[in-house]
Amino acid sequence: MTKRRDFLKHAGMAGLGIAASGMSWLAWADSAQRATASAGVPTNTGIRGKVVVIGGGMAGATVAKYLRFWGGTGVEVTLVERDAYYTSSIMSNLVLTGQRTLQSLQIGHDNLRSRYGVKLVRGEVVAIDPASRTVALGDGTRLTYDRLVVAPGVDFDVLPGLETAAAQAKVPHAWKAGPQTTQLRNMITAMPNGGVFVMSIPAKPYRCPPGPYERACVVADWLKKNRPGSKLIVLDANPGITAEVHTFTEAFNVTHNGVIEYYTGVSISAVDAGTLTLTTSIGNVQGHVLNVIPPHRAGKVVTGNGLADAGGRWTNVNVLSYEAVAAPGIHVIGDASATTQPKAGHIANQEAKVCADAIARLLAGGQPDPAPVTNSACYSPITADTASWLTAVYAYDPTTRTMQVVPGASGEANRPSKDNYEDMGKWFTTLMADTFV
Ligand SMILES: Cc1cc2nc3c(=O)[nH]c(=O)nc-3n(C[C@H](O)[C@H](O)[C@H](O)COP(=O)(O)OP(=O)(O)OC[C@H]3O[C@@H](n4cnc5c(N)ncnc54)[C@H](O)[C@@H]3O)c2cc1C
Repeated sequence: MTKRRDFLKHAGMAGLGIAASGMSWLAWADSAQRATASAGVPTNTGIRGKVVVIGGGMAGATVAKYLRFWGGTGVEVTLVERDAYYTSSIMSNLVLTGQRTLQSLQIGHDNLRSRYGVKLVRGEVVAIDPASRTVALGDGTRLTYDRLVVAPGVDFDVLPGLETAAAQAKVPHAWKAGPQTTQLRNMITAMPNGGVFVMSIPAKPYRCPPGPYERACVVADWLKKNRPGSKLIVLDANPGITAEVHTFTEAFNVTHNGVIEYYTGVSISAVDAGTLTLTTSIGNVQGHVLNVIPPHRAGKVVTGNGLADAGGRWTNVNVLSYEAVAAPGIHVIGDASATTQPKAGHIANQEAKVCADAIARLLAGGQPDPAPVTNSACYSPITADTASWLTAVYAYDPTTRTMQVVPGASGEANRPSKDNYEDMGKWFTTLMADTFV
């Protein structure tokens, strides 16, 4: 296993392109704004082209920034984002326990415009026309592109019983940070002593493999201290814990023993939002709070535009450039693409950089880097003041044409610790600054 002190090296803090800082990433944004105006301004590299990016999340914001940074002033980048600001899902489990506010996870896209010259368009892309190389927004606006980058994140299956907005409000997934996160926090604080919190985990692949286990841990920790006698039931559709097996097995069986009950291979066939009861393969399960995380698929702009050629849910891509295998000129990055890498914010940032580099090379008449390397890192709080971590380095394997884990450069923390919890804040600050500032 990798030693903690080696983590930042493995996790590539330097590779993220910005120094670690103890300040909040909003403070980072402010100080960056005040810093020398030329720090991030692209120069003229001679490369020319028009790129439209759909989605200003972890993947989309990064690719827009680095396309300008590396491509230069001749690469016109337009970022279309439907929301006024981004709310990070990373760290949002700590909103459930009151350790962070949702506002502390929100950031706008203005730095991308003021520092890098990215054009920002507020709206939702509803249609992609590869023949005319245009996208259409909900308000009728059309944008043309030489290359399109699609980074919409995920959408969720609608389980029987959760078809209406009213039912979804009673049984939130809170797996995309926003109003549902606040809703779930309110439901947890309204629980009685001796209450029951039931959560479900969908079959792989889903966003943030350790995330649901992390949620179980921090909510169990909060319940133990604030709602004595409560229990937390985890219904996992997978045959076992999907990430950081050693850490979460210990956390469930020892640290949160007596609070967490963990069941594997459980499928959910219906949800009764009125009685807060789940119909499952192990019988009916009722709770004071239901937190059902449904199976995922790529955002609607992918599935609705014929781009979901991987099981009808994701896009198959060439990982040298993230160009869709079946749609030349269209690149799909982040959670929406089907790769061997996890669906996670850190890897979305990395995929975006490989994609930005490849597009700059292609626009210049060259070919993508034939040997890209990416890195994934994830911190998981286990209690209110301890955390664990997991990291992996991936390198391109020309035989399988996939990204494969580099042996010896990957690992997980030996045990959760307070030091790890502190490092978690630095990692998050650094990742968000690299993406949005
Ligand atoms: C509880 C939780 C904890 C997590 N913790 C971690 C962690 O510790 N480490 C980690 O690496 N990852 C973590 N993740 C996962 C991480 O949040 C996602 O993997 C990451 O956000 C994916 O980035 P993305 O750019 O693909 O999608 P997103 O970040 O979701 O961004 C997609 C953006 O596209 C926009 N959009 C979608 N469709 C359209 C459209 N048609 N037109 C215009 N805009 C559109 C959306 O509004 C959104 O802003 C966590 C996730 C959760 C839920």
